[in-house]
Amino acid sequence: MVGLALLSLSSTSAADVKPPAGLRCLERLYGIKSEPRDGGFVAQLGKSVLPYDDGQAKNAMQRIESPDLEDMFSERYRTGPIRKVQRAEEDPGRARVEALFMQRYGRTQAAVAAALVSVDFVGSRVRVHRLTASAFRAVAHRLAKLVQHKPELRAFLTGIGGTFAWRPIAGTQRRSAHSYGIAIDLNVKLAHYWRWRMNSAGMAWDNSYPQEIVDAFEAEGFIWGGRWYHYDTMHFEYRPELLDAACYSERDEKRLE
Ligand SMILES: [Zn+2]
Repeated sequence: MVGLALLSLSSTSAADVKPPAGLRCLERLYGIKSEPRDGGFVAQLGKSVLPYDDGQAKNAMQRIESPDLEDMFSERYRTGPIRKVQRAEEDPGRARVEALFMQRYGRTQAAVAAALVSVDFVGSRVRVHRLTASAFRAVAHRLAKLVQHKPELRAFLTGIGGTFAWRPIAGTQRRSAHSYGIAIDLNVKLAHYWRWRMNSAGMAWDNSYPQEIVDAFEAEGFIWGGRWYHYDTMHFEYRPELLDAACYSERDEKRLE
C-alpha cells in the first residue's frame, strides 16, 4: 500500500496540480481559461496572459492599485450583521483586475453599451450588462417583496444614482465597476461616501442603509460598498466570486482563524 501511495505521488506532474480555489472560481464564473506555468498558474485574458500570483509582496493600497488575480481574494468579504468597518485594510472587492472585467464584460465603452439590457428595478428602469441581468432581476424580486412588508424602505430604492457609466473611480485612474454595467448606486441622498467626509470629521465609517436591503443584494452575488473602510453605502456590485466560500483558499481560511 505504501509503495502504491508513493508511486501515485511521484507520478503527479504539473499538469495534474489543480489551480488554486480562487482561480477555479474565476474560470467557472468569468469563463476564463488557466494553465500551469513556471510552478504557478496563468490565466488567458484576451491577448494577455496574467499570472494568478505575480509573486509581489504588496500592502493593502498596492493590492488595490496593481492587483493580480490572487489579490482579489486577499480580503475575505463577510456577510451578516452590518458593522462599523474600522480596519483600514478592510476593503474586500476593491482590488479588481481590469483585464478580467474587460474580458468578461467588454473592453470599450461601445462594447459594454452594446451589451446592456433594460431591467425593471422596483419601479425604476435600469440598464445593466446582459450577463448580470438575471442577478439584478433576482435582487429586484427580493426587494419588491421586502417593500411590500416594509414600505419605509422604498425610499432607498428611489432616486437611483445610476448603473452603467464608463468612468474612472473618483480620484483614480482605475475603471469603476459602473463601467461594465455590473454595479448600481441606490438613493444617493441617503448614502454615506468616504470622500464626502474627508474634510470634516475624518472619514469615520457611517451608514443609513438597512440590513434587509444589503442582505437581498448579497444573497444574489452582489457585494456592498458599506463593507469597506473606504465606504460607499449606495454602491452594490455583482461579484459572485467574493460571496462563495469555495473561492477562498484554505491558506486564507487558516490565516483568518
Ligand atoms: Zn457606485
